[in-house]
Amino acid sequence: MEFSTFGDKFARYSGITQLMDDLNDGLRNPDAIMLGGGNPAQIPEMLTYFNQLCQQMAASGELTQAMTNYDGPQGKNTFINALADLLRERFGWPITARNIALTNGSQSAFFNLFNLLAGTFSDGTRKKILLPLAPEYIGYGDAGLSEEMFISYRPEITLLEDGLFKYHVDFKNLVVDDSIGAICASRPTNPTGNVLTDEEIAHLDALAREHGIPLIIDNAYGMPFPDIIFEDVTPFWNDNTVLCMSLSKLGLPGVRCGIVVAREEIATAITNMNGVLSLAPGSVGPALAYRMIEQNDLLTLSETVIKPFYQRKSQHAVALLQQAITDPRFRIHKPEGAMFLWLWFNDLPISTMELYQRLKDRGVLIVPGEYFFIGLEEDWQHGHECLRMNYVQEDDVMQRGIAIIAEEVARAYREG
Ligand code: PLP
Repeated sequence: MEFSTFGDKFARYSGITQLMDDLNDGLRNPDAIMLGGGNPAQIPEMLTYFNQLCQQMAASGELTQAMTNYDGPQGKNTFINALADLLRERFGWPITARNIALTNGSQSAFFNLFNLLAGTFSDGTRKKILLPLAPEYIGYGDAGLSEEMFISYRPEITLLEDGLFKYHVDFKNLVVDDSIGAICASRPTNPTGNVLTDEEIAHLDALAREHGIPLIIDNAYGMPFPDIIFEDVTPFWNDNTVLCMSLSKLGLPGVRCGIVVAREEIATAITNMNGVLSLAPGSVGPALAYRMIEQNDLLTLSETVIKPFYQRKSQHAVALLQQAITDPRFRIHKPEGAMFLWLWFNDLPISTMELYQRLKDRGVLIVPGEYFFIGLEEDWQHGHECLRMNYVQEDDVMQRGIAIIAEEVARAYREG
């Protein structure tokens, strides 16, 4: 069957679809070792809490009310009002309900934002989204209505002690000009676990303001919730920032709730797009999150359960990896947040795409690094030497998966 140009672009098998498929296959195959997807951990305390919350809200009728009514296109007012108060009180940001719009997951917020701020304009000019530091989140890759929606730059690499390294934005080479419609970065970054420093954010903010374009900060893992961030950095927002948040990494990916916090003009644009694309965002996630804010649980659970859980898991995974792979060509990006480790096998004789296949054949799923260098103009060998691994599985599963990765990496180096 012949599809339209839109169909050709969006109906093809993209990187993100492969990832979600693998995740789903892994969930169906009980023996697969799933170190690939971005599903948050099943944290026992959080599962118990969500069960109790649902029971309480079912008993009070709130859950049924959320399920049986449409919200407005901006999203559930009670939650938006409570969130605006929370952000104002917690961070002192001048936010009102008019600065917030909800979406069905933050993934769809990015689709709307990118196509709102980049692509073709009425005077015929074309603009791109600047990703200042590649590697970046795989989910951005196919989100542009037009081709060549992104431009990105290689980072500076700092080698650290203990087999770690860290990426920094290479401001020397970054070009912001009229061809850029917005700057976007995830903080903490999926896939690397990098957290842009306060200085880097201030610098990006200054560049964005200087060029009259917004700075989009993808806060899916950041503060104040789910707070999967291990560095002492300051959350950032001003009226030129578009802060995107999500309930997913709190442990609620199935409710598909994304949150855009931006100047009114942008929040209203997202609201209007919601009307056309989905009538209204889903109601159940915001109803749950509203209760969590009312009961003072949202931030408390983030700080006392979610953050410590991921921090312990990441330290444990680093220790397991460093025991299993002692080759000096192997390094791990400093884990500063999110739920992934970014592994770098310098001079690996095979690509990580090939390594991914070999690992998949042995029942271990990871994500090859190649997918994450969206918008980079030239191929970069480093991109073929890295892979993303999540560390949310049970400790014994992590150990088995890491042992297989260590064997396959050793084999690849031997063959080289
Ligand atoms: N941004 C980042 C950095 C992510 O890792 C993800 C999901 O993995 C998303 C956005 C999208 O999340 P959701 O659509 O579930 O809110």
